[in-house]
Amino acid sequence: MTATAPREEQLWSRCAGCASLLYRKRLRRNLDVCPECGAHSRLAAPERLRQLVDEGSLCLLPDSLPEADPIGFVDVLPYPHRLTAARAATGLTEAVVCATATIGGHPAVLAVMDFRFLGGSLGCAVGELITLAAERALDDHTPLILVTASGGARMQEGALSLMQMATVSQAIAGLREAGLLTVSVLTDPTYGGVAASFATNTDLVLAESGTRMGFAGPRVIRQVTGRALPDGFQTAEFLLRHGQVDMVVQRRSLRGRLVALLAATRADRPARPPVPRQESAPRREPPAGDGPDVVRSADGPDPLGERSAVRAGAADLAAPDPWDTVRTARHPGRPTTLDYLDSVFDGFVELHGDRLGGDCPAVVGGVARLDGRHVMVIGHQKGHTTAELVAHNFGMASPAGHRKALRLMRLAARLGLPVVTLVDTPGADPGVSAEEQGQAAAIAENILTLTVLPTPVLAVITGEGGSGGALALAVADRVLMLQHAVYSVISPEGCAAILWPDRSAAPQAARALRLTAPDLRRLGVVDEIVPEPATAAHEDPTETARRLRAALLANLLPLLDVPPATLVRRRRQRFRRFGSARVGARAGAR
Ligand SMILES: [Zn+2]
Repeated sequence: MTATAPREEQLWSRCAGCASLLYRKRLRRNLDVCPECGAHSRLAAPERLRQLVDEGSLCLLPDSLPEADPIGFVDVLPYPHRLTAARAATGLTEAVVCATATIGGHPAVLAVMDFRFLGGSLGCAVGELITLAAERALDDHTPLILVTASGGARMQEGALSLMQMATVSQAIAGLREAGLLTVSVLTDPTYGGVAASFATNTDLVLAESGTRMGFAGPRVIRQVTGRALPDGFQTAEFLLRHGQVDMVVQRRSLRGRLVALLAATRADRPARPPVPRQESAPRREPPAGDGPDVVRSADGPDPLGERSAVRAGAADLAAPDPWDTVRTARHPGRPTTLDYLDSVFDGFVELHGDRLGGDCPAVVGGVARLDGRHVMVIGHQKGHTTAELVAHNFGMASPAGHRKALRLMRLAARLGLPVVTLVDTPGADPGVSAEEQGQAAAIAENILTLTVLPTPVLAVITGEGGSGGALALAVADRVLMLQHAVYSVISPEGCAAILWPDRSAAPQAARALRLTAPDLRRLGVVDEIVPEPATAAHEDPTETARRLRAALLANLLPLLDVPPATLVRRRRQRFRRFGSARVGARAGAR
């Protein structure tokens, strides 16, 4: 029962719920809900818009953006071939359709995702289009309604797709500040980077009946935990029971619910002048800080990272194979956050707990001094031995860990302390209880909060920067990366399992994902590479700590004198520039 049934079957559809053979026109009249069993089939974005908005009110927003294949991704097919095929199959330009319209007479801006287009994946163009829609809502002083359907971030665009979680979240933050309602309507399925950002950090979250939503997919959770999943796991009813959505709505009631919510939020509100739009980011924003870099590539692109490697004093001038870098980044001897708290900082006082019922051992944080200045340090903690790794859940934060980090970030802002984060995680905890406790929303709220936190934020990728779990601590004014760390939208093994015939292609995936420090420096995801002593940090932790300390000071000191409003504005520009147009310009310039 999909919109892409073969031609000869278009008169009839078979229900995925009860297997009834249904006359398509009858099904369409019933909003693509099975009249026999009530199963809600997936809707194409244009049909969804038709069902939700007032007739004749729809005005599509422009969706033409420069072509972008920002990391030149190839698996068994080059990424542009997949894009072309998706366009031909759907008639859409991208995996989201944005529009202005009225709903029950109330004006709104809508962004509706379409799962048929590369699994509704969030890439630079999708992030840019939704951000533009949010900016339009801010300009027009109208609510924003997001209808989500996505498997997650688009791995063919590497870490740049991860950045879109921050870009869209900060646009949502802008609407929050302006007192404008944001609503997300979860539809089946909504997972990964979309679930862990704008699908759950809106004011209201509605789940259409039949939706499944979560941070980690059921297959991954089953693989990691080796256990069967509870009945109804991640369904709309599960989400409601665990406090993660405001309501579960049948499709036939969805429009009416939106009308009621839009009406309620407009009531008694005095007309407010439109909020001035944020200044748009220049294409090449100079670094926020003016401090000397330990290693800063010259202005031009540095495609092979050679200059960085030379300045880093690395013995091998040839770039190592990215798969070797992945293994170095995961080396059990690599210094952990607690090691750095001992060697780089002084007087660390650990603070525990999320104040909601948990204290996650995978995240450590507290106040410390850096060269005599007080800072809030928050980082993922792994360990060197198996017992340590198990005790700290391998550095995979639970929702309680993300909420502890959030509490410490907010506390730092209130106390006027800069925040230093140390990122070293394979990813957020993919477990049943993590999903029950709202892993996606916990990550989403951290990302949003960091985009507007009124205090300096400095992030360092020290080991593994694994997807949304890493980004939850890495939206910062300056992002540093140790030379042999990696930062990626998905693990090479996970990427290989999805895009290659099997997981043994992880080394190829590692190369395709552009997850090394020189690659990310070139893409602008990382501002500076902190060189490691030969051959890597685990061989000489003392020297590594000395270099990290110097890099932290050089980057932090210039931020301390910047007024908070200026800091936040520059941080927003930093993440805003990852939009498709800019990335397209970068790709074109290569
Ligand atoms: Zn049915």
